[in-house]
Amino acid sequence: MRSTLRNGAALGLLSLALGACGAPGTGAPEPLSSDQPRPLVAAPDEPARQAPNLPPGLETQAPLDDPLVDLASVDPRLVLHLSYGTEDNFVREVLYPEPRALLRASAAARLVEVLDRLEPRGLGLLVYDAYRPHAVQRRMWELLPNPDYVADPARGSRHNRGMAVDVGLCDASGRPLEMPTAHDAFEPAAAADAALPWGPARRNRDLLIEAMAASGFRVLRSEWWHFDAEGWEERALLDVPIEAVPAQGGPQAP
Ligand SMILES: [Zn+2]
Repeated sequence: MRSTLRNGAALGLLSLALGACGAPGTGAPEPLSSDQPRPLVAAPDEPARQAPNLPPGLETQAPLDDPLVDLASVDPRLVLHLSYGTEDNFVREVLYPEPRALLRASAAARLVEVLDRLEPRGLGLLVYDAYRPHAVQRRMWELLPNPDYVADPARGSRHNRGMAVDVGLCDASGRPLEMPTAHDAFEPAAAADAALPWGPARRNRDLLIEAMAASGFRVLRSEWWHFDAEGWEERALLDVPIEAVPAQGGPQAP
């Protein structure tokens, strides 16, 4: 697997080096061919792990315009069941150093609206995942380099923009309600429009999608739990560590 990744990284770096108008290439472990007078890529002794697939426009500073905020601070009604803060996820590894859920402030405000809409019905929201640093995306890809399951870090995941959230429904005491599948279940019933038999799972799924849509969240067709806040395409991909964002939300200190 390592050599496959290295070869792929070398090809990616060639285009990056060409696209960067002579900027020094970094990180690939070996020259592309033996007859090049000057290698486009780094010296062979640089380790392969220094050749990440970085998408264009990736930002490493906490954004100031629509900052990342801590959902637990924004609204304590949210029930956090963060799959990647534990080993209870499809890669069986703790991926977040702190089990905190962050979102851009604009998306978090929409989520509060959804809670306000659900609360009178005795319902609430469970959060499975929210903002995901790009470094975590790269780690997931390292563990499972299959675009059917993990977004290629070369393009980034919608979660890297801080505008996507994975949620389910719970009752007023925070108990999960029956949904079509578990979070991150890769099966046909996970589709947002899967033809489920009438019953609680289908009713809860449809109610969730309707409540989220009323506040500008669009469901991902292949995952009933994944929602993107309106305007997500305009927000940059981020590689800001979760621990760099203060618990009270707001921008990172300089
Ligand atoms: Zn998602």
